[in-house]
Amino acid sequence: MKHINIAIDGPSGAGKSTLARRTAQELGYIYVDTGAMYRAIGLYVLRRGIAADDKAAVVACLPEITVDIGYQDGVQRIFLNGEDVSGSIRTEEVSQYASAVSAVPEVRAHLMGLQRSLAARSSVIMDGRDIGTVILPDADIKIYLTASEEDRAMRRFLELREKGQEVDYDSVLENIRQRDWNDMHRDVAPLRQAEDAIVVDTSGIGLEESARLLRDTIEGMMPYVV
Ligand code: C5P
Repeated sequence: MKHINIAIDGPSGAGKSTLARRTAQELGYIYVDTGAMYRAIGLYVLRRGIAADDKAAVVACLPEITVDIGYQDGVQRIFLNGEDVSGSIRTEEVSQYASAVSAVPEVRAHLMGLQRSLAARSSVIMDGRDIGTVILPDADIKIYLTASEEDRAMRRFLELREKGQEVDYDSVLENIRQRDWNDMHRDVAPLRQAEDAIVVDTSGIGLEESARLLRDTIEGMMPYVV
């Protein structure tokens, strides 16, 4: 049976992970969060005390890094050299490190094989920044999921606070702006909308409505998937 691959790209905080996970569950597909893979490498670099912008040092430690994903009760877990780091990668500091290391071509190449092999094995919804443009250019359905900067910052702020992290809205907004800039201006695999992607804009709407909008968009495309 043919595997169906759905690529979801877009800027930080657009709700990609939450919405993609839910939609994958509804469709019975595997959900692949590629951001978690960059975060795992960011975490390794942070723990090693390497400056995030020290490209040579980041490249030099890649042979020491194995990133893997697994599933527990249908939920993706991310492993860094065998250690489950699914919780530790969700901090603002690791976000910044992930954003910096993701601009290094060797880091992207290090993860590409894993990402492509997951899509070759199963029907997936894969979310990231370059899935529809670079990783799975032949994906059956491509979505560009976005929302205004302010909406994205507010969602991230509420999410971090709920997890008990001390954050203020202005620095979360600044972090989002900086990551958008980094992601869109890097030389390798910059964030951009694939020509054949459909835009789903969740500005001003809540989670339930966004989930419905995404699901309706995907369902609307299914008859054209061959
Ligand atoms: O999606 P998330 O915020 O977890 O991703 C963390 C960082 O990893 C992003 O800021 C982005 O720089 C990078 N990333 C990437 N390509 C992907 C997924 C994430 O460059 N496919």
